[in-house]
Amino acid sequence: MASESCDVCERSVRIAGGIGDLWNFAFESTQGMTLELTDGSEFFLCFECMEELPGDHEPTESDVEALRERTEPVEEDGNSFWHWG
Ligand SMILES: [Zn+2]
Repeated sequence: MASESCDVCERSVRIAGGIGDLWNFAFESTQGMTLELTDGSEFFLCFECMEELPGDHEPTESDVEALRERTEPVEEDGNSFWHWG
C-alpha cells in the first residue's frame, strides 16, 4: 500500500501498491487513481472527486481545474507523512 495526494481536494489517498494489488484488493482498498487525459496530462484523483467530473464527455484539464477551484482542500493531519510539495 502507498498513498498519494488527490490533485483536487489534496487529501492523502490510499492506493494499491501495484497492479497485482489492484486486482487482488480490488477497489475496496484503493481510494483513487491516476487519470490520464486525452491531451496527455495526468492527475491523481480520489474517487470522490472523480465522481464530480462531468460524465458526459472525456474530462479535460480545464474540468479538473474547475473542480479544484470549487473544492475546498481537505485538511488532514493524521497520516500525512508523505510530502509531495
Ligand atoms: Zn479528491
